[in-house]
Amino acid sequence: MPTSPLNADLHCHSVVSDGTLTPDELAARASHNGVQLWSLTDHDEIGGQHRAAAAAHAQGLAYLTGTEISVSFASTTVHIVGLGFDPDDAALAQGLAATRGGRGQRAHDMAQGLAQVGIAGAYEGALQYVSNPELISRTHFARFLVETGVCRETSEVFRKYLTEGKPGFVPHRWAALGDAVRWITQAGGVGVIAHPARYRLSANEEFALFSEFKQHGGRGVEVVTGSHSVPEYAVYADMAREFGLAASRGSDFHSPTESHTDLGTLPPLPSGVTPVWELLADRIRPAL
Ligand code: AMP
Ligand code: MN
Ligand code: MN
Ligand code: MN
Repeated sequence: MPTSPLNADLHCHSVVSDGTLTPDELAARASHNGVQLWSLTDHDEIGGQHRAAAAAHAQGLAYLTGTEISVSFASTTVHIVGLGFDPDDAALAQGLAATRGGRGQRAHDMAQGLAQVGIAGAYEGALQYVSNPELISRTHFARFLVETGVCRETSEVFRKYLTEGKPGFVPHRWAALGDAVRWITQAGGVGVIAHPARYRLSANEEFALFSEFKQHGGRGVEVVTGSHSVPEYAVYADMAREFGLAASRGSDFHSPTESHTDLGTLPPLPSGVTPVWELLADRIRPAL
């Protein structure tokens, strides 16, 4: 193992979900930015895993398989990252396909909501940004609304149109927490709660999320992520210790023009937490 801290970036997105770069472009960018251990974690998809692993190999970059599963919990959406699973596991692939399944209809419903406030053609517009027909996401709508001048940047689109209570928001039923964790675990991987500070959960609901996640076999939580503030690193390092979870680190990079945090540029994990990659040493290719 290289001397710590290891520059691990275990959360980002490619064109296989809602990123704008290919797995190959991401591997090159990660390598250029000094990442030593990388994972591509597309939403509800593992279709880019073999390409990402091969691209990492070509860059001399250590790789862990990854995905980010959409889960419905306590009337909100929570994301569970999976790391180090067998990318050919049939049950995982089936679970992810089922999770993706409702996205097409949801996108039509979103477009209808936007049409009611005078934004026409949003479904077709969003589709122009979609590479994977099974993975149309709110991000693709956001890109269309920026491109057509409705908003200046994607964060404004989310605030005004795509979050709860706004015209383009459609409530959706994603995977169950226990199912998502089991798909990952039974495929030999480790489940990780993604960017916990982003969820609007009460203290009781957050406690329930961490407790139930752990009971289902989840083993990690993102502590240092592009979605957390510096004070939140400390809050979730404490939560990791309290719940006996390992800590993960990842930029959640989507695009050179949209993302505030580039691959490999976050600070290291706080001291006193177990890095999640220590649980996955035998899954890293090539070994560190
Ligand atoms: P979906 O899975 O279709 O609900 O889309 C979720 C994705 O939307 C997230 O993974 C982010 O990439 C993006 N997203 C969510 N909230 C925001 C926001 N406030 N600003 C920019 N992007 C966001
Ligand atoms: Mn995304
Ligand atoms: Mn997420
Ligand atoms: Mn993400």
